Amino acid sequence: PDSRSTVIIIGAGVSGISAAKVLAENGIADLLILEASDRIGGRIRKESFGGVSVELGAGWIAGVGGKAPNPVWEIAAKFGLRSCFSDYSNARYNIYDQSGKIFPSGIAADSYKKAVDSAIQRLRDQESNCVEDVPDGTESPLTPIELAIDFILHDFEMAGKLFHSCFSLFGFQEKSKVEPISTYVDFGEREYLVADERGYEYLLYKMAEDFLFTSEEKILDNRLKLNKVVRELQHSRNGVTVKTEDGCIYEASYVVLSASIGVLQSDLICFRPPLPRWKTEAIEKCDVMIYTKVFLKFPYKFWPCGPDKEFFIYAHERRGYYTFWQQMENAYPSSNILVVTLTNGESKRVEAQPDEETLKEAMGVLRDMFGSEIPTATDILVPRWWNNRFQRGSYSNYPIISNNQVVNDIKAPVGRIFFTGEHTSERFNGYVHGGYLAGIDTSKALLEEMRKNENTSFLREPLL
Ligand code: FAD
Repeated sequence: PDSRSTVIIIGAGVSGISAAKVLAENGIADLLILEASDRIGGRIRKESFGGVSVELGAGWIAGVGGKAPNPVWEIAAKFGLRSCFSDYSNARYNIYDQSGKIFPSGIAADSYKKAVDSAIQRLRDQESNCVEDVPDGTESPLTPIELAIDFILHDFEMAGKLFHSCFSLFGFQEKSKVEPISTYVDFGEREYLVADERGYEYLLYKMAEDFLFTSEEKILDNRLKLNKVVRELQHSRNGVTVKTEDGCIYEASYVVLSASIGVLQSDLICFRPPLPRWKTEAIEKCDVMIYTKVFLKFPYKFWPCGPDKEFFIYAHERRGYYTFWQQMENAYPSSNILVVTLTNGESKRVEAQPDEETLKEAMGVLRDMFGSEIPTATDILVPRWWNNRFQRGSYSNYPIISNNQVVNDIKAPVGRIFFTGEHTSERFNGYVHGGYLAGIDTSKALLEEMRKNENTSFLREPLL
């Protein structure tokens, strides 16, 4: 083998880094992190666009201002990460029809109520029939504005949040049996958009700095190996042999695997012997959401600005067609950048087409809303999370009517392979803090296992 370690961590996203940090703090000095891409961060990723840093992946610190502190918010505060409060509640007053008229708030409120009613009905049907998944559009509202709201309630990443606020808005909370979203219950209702030139990923460098050798914001520690695509995990009672695409072989007593649920569903990593059936079945049961932020740069602003205008909605007869828009003026004044969010089927569609085509479609929508004289965007950025073989989607989504058994099975170790990542977080899957906390939990479970089984004199007394 090229090396032998006590623990190999596969993946250097937030969960892999937080797992490695806990292991290092507990005395595991010879850990090794293998990351497929050429950088750390995973789904936390900044890119320079139109003169600023934009976040292609996670953008918000979700769940702030509640009873308990969100750990990611605390880390962000410690390192002075710049962020701006996002007020979603105004989005419903900024809904445009195809002729550029804003819907009066009365109509918007009625459509909201209708969409929420139909959503509750759908959930009740699912609960009473114990149907795991009701096909999309079963009872879908018909008018463009209802379609737009239905899309936001179901497909949009902040679905949980909006859903939550709709229920309280219309006094449905008691009546509905819908589980509230743990993130907002535990950590608070507020969301902050990260707007820092160093990127959201700066937090990961700061976390890594605690246990890896770094210099000038660069990790120079050979326990982190980039461009190492793990293709095979051969595991037995004695240990795990890890093979990478470039032909290297690494041995370890244990492996912590943080690859996303989309990657686990793909054939990127081959397990020898294969994973047991209870495990593969659980992995298949978890849905993968695709969430795409398309960034557009303009020579000047032609959209209304102000704190209550951060978000606006386009109502079209095709559900999810360039529906949810955000202007970046609050985050980056004078950047002249708009972001439109596409999900699932629409994400796959734009990922597969040339960016010029996406630009043309987006401009058509903007001209519907703001008139034909507006300037054409000078630049476009279309992230491709679905076609990225190290991601295969944006985040996990457990079916609403699923019991905890699915997530428990996804999280459960198989022999010496321990699973981590946002998808293993029972309460916070789909979020950065979910990944962060999952990494800590997985390492705690692994340390406990090691203390039981091994000669662990090298382990420090539990710090946990
Ligand atoms: P990852 O970050 O995916 O880390 C896994 C790592 O494993 C990756 O670096 C990958 O390259 C690597 N890997 C995969 N396969 C292999 C292999 N075979 N060999 C070696 N390495 C491998 N969360 C929020 O809290 N707020 C938001 O606003 C938000 N918005 C989002 C928007 C988008 C577009 C996306 C994509 C995600 C968003 N999320 C958001 C979710 C959040 O980004 C994730 O929950 C979190 O970053 C996941 O961290 P992780 O460590 O579980 O996985």
